[in-house]
Amino acid sequence: MTFPLPLRLDAAVRHGAARLAGPEARHEAEHLLLHALGRDRAWLFAHGTDPMTTDQAVAFEALLARRAAGEPVAYLVGRRGFWTLDLRVTPATLIPRPETERLVELALERLPGDAPLRVADLGTGSGAIALAIASERPRARVVATDTSDDALRVAHDNAAAHGLANVEFRRGSWLAPLSGERFHLIASNPPYIAEGDPHLGQGDLRFEPAGALASGTDGLAAIREIVAAAPRCLRAGGWVLLEHGWEQGESIRALLRQAGFMDVDTAQDLEHRDRVTLGRLP
Ligand code: GLN
Repeated sequence: MTFPLPLRLDAAVRHGAARLAGPEARHEAEHLLLHALGRDRAWLFAHGTDPMTTDQAVAFEALLARRAAGEPVAYLVGRRGFWTLDLRVTPATLIPRPETERLVELALERLPGDAPLRVADLGTGSGAIALAIASERPRARVVATDTSDDALRVAHDNAAAHGLANVEFRRGSWLAPLSGERFHLIASNPPYIAEGDPHLGQGDLRFEPAGALASGTDGLAAIREIVAAAPRCLRAGGWVLLEHGWEQGESIRALLRQAGFMDVDTAQDLEHRDRVTLGRLP
């Protein structure tokens, strides 16, 4: 234990931040301290001058050491906010990203609020996309697929925690568990990084499931599979929305057009990079 006790809790955040790198160090240290204490920010605001106990210091120290070694904050605290939902995440699931909220917005623009629509989320991970849509469209029925039982358990827990009964989870690869049904909208944030890409060895990505990140030598293997199968699982006029890397928009637009989709377009994320490509069946 390296903290010079006695130490106030607000000073402990500063000490912790000094141990972490990057622009988010202070925010991360606070988040980890709150997790160690089992408290929220409002509590800390009122109790910043309380002394840290030895047990608290040991717990905080352990979390800081793991973070300093690279483990993502979301896995250390087991939670990540996405859309309006606080989600459980584990190393079996990708950590939901703010970019993916763009895909949710684009999906909701295509899903009238009062209609009993059928929506699919392929490779649901923590359930982020499926649950965000289900929460905004209570009359929609959402089917979420994943090959990982561990991920499906997490997604299922998240649905239960938020009381979302209009989502159904099915185990299997991409659209395979959808066979025979037709949907109004299919969304996916599939793996889209090329195998061997150096980014896979950096930051949070080192700790996330490889199968949720990388897909084939050009990163497009999963997307090709989804685009090829999607027309059989969509109603006439149904939409497919795919999240992808900032250099993949053109390739994916071409894939969608070849597969017979119309109104094919790419939307940008908050950093003005290509992020979501979508198209509609005639
Ligand atoms: N759909 C989940 C998310 O967007 C998981 C995506 C994935 O594992 N590639 O967070």
